[in-house]
Amino acid sequence: MPKKPNTKEELLALLYRESIVDEKTECRVWTGHRVGKADGKGYGGIVLSEPDKRTKWRVHRLMWEIHHGDIPEGLLVRHFCHNRLCINIDHLGIGTHKDNYDDARKAGRHTHGELASWLTEEQVKEIKRLGAEGVPQRKIAKQFGIASKSTVGRILRGQAWSHVT
Ligand SMILES: [Zn+2]
Repeated sequence: MPKKPNTKEELLALLYRESIVDEKTECRVWTGHRVGKADGKGYGGIVLSEPDKRTKWRVHRLMWEIHHGDIPEGLLVRHFCHNRLCINIDHLGIGTHKDNYDDARKAGRHTHGELASWLTEEQVKEIKRLGAEGVPQRKIAKQFGIASKSTVGRILRGQAWSHVT
């Protein structure tokens, strides 16, 4: 059982070591231990030890907390890519059980939630403005804490956040 690292960077490195990126979907797929359903549809899990306790985590929830802090009470971390083993922060968003239910129901009719769902509309407008000015996507991604520049590309092309103009 790994010790819980002291810094965010070390904790991320630990999670990255046990996951691989699917280049087609950009999902970062957990390859470590799984929890939940035994039929292969479970979530990624990890146990981290601290001096006075050990904590069992679902890795996508841990990933969310590393980036955004505590998950608000009663809400859950959702996968917009519908891959439960994915820990790409750009594919994770916060939502309710009802959102999850509605989303699953619509999934068959092809829908994808918003990538980088924590962005505000103001931020998305700013991203589009910078993109229109020719600021490199990599630079925009860094400025807004978006993990991959192709997520910025999708926003600029209107494949995500298309309702914000
Ligand atoms: Zn994903």
